[in-house]
Amino acid sequence: MRFPGRRKSKHYFPVEERGHIPFQRSVRAHPRATELDCRTCGACCAPEVRLPFYVGLKAADLRRLTRAFRDRNVARGSLLTRLDPVGRCVCVALKGTLGRRVSCTVYPRRPRACRGLTEGSRACRKARRQAGLV
Ligand code: SF4
Ligand code: SF4
Repeated sequence: MRFPGRRKSKHYFPVEERGHIPFQRSVRAHPRATELDCRTCGACCAPEVRLPFYVGLKAADLRRLTRAFRDRNVARGSLLTRLDPVGRCVCVALKGTLGRRVSCTVYPRRPRACRGLTEGSRACRKARRQAGLV
């Protein structure tokens, strides 16, 4: 997930492990990276199916997060999930509605896995397909 002034993002569990949840078909298929706006997407911040946990955290990831955030939102070494306003299961740190307007509330402290998924990459495109955003 990319926000203004940031270059990269993303994930821990391979997108390949996620399945398909029909969502919203509004974006052109195979958009170029320069055409993608993570702020209106968030597909890679959502598991394929409803799960209690999503992004797995390494020790360094846990250290970066504040204790207050960890106490509320981390269990079994992973970030928890929540339901967005339209009932989609998303990472607990994702604010907003998938496919509309989203942001990562821990962006500067986001897990290492979240930094590696780049918009326009194969994993990004797959996540968007699974979320019904292409
Ligand atoms: S799926 Fe791609 S475009 Fe969507 S938030 Fe993730 S990196 Fe950005
Ligand atoms: S920590 Fe942020 S970037 Fe990573 S999955 Fe959660 S909302 Fe997305």
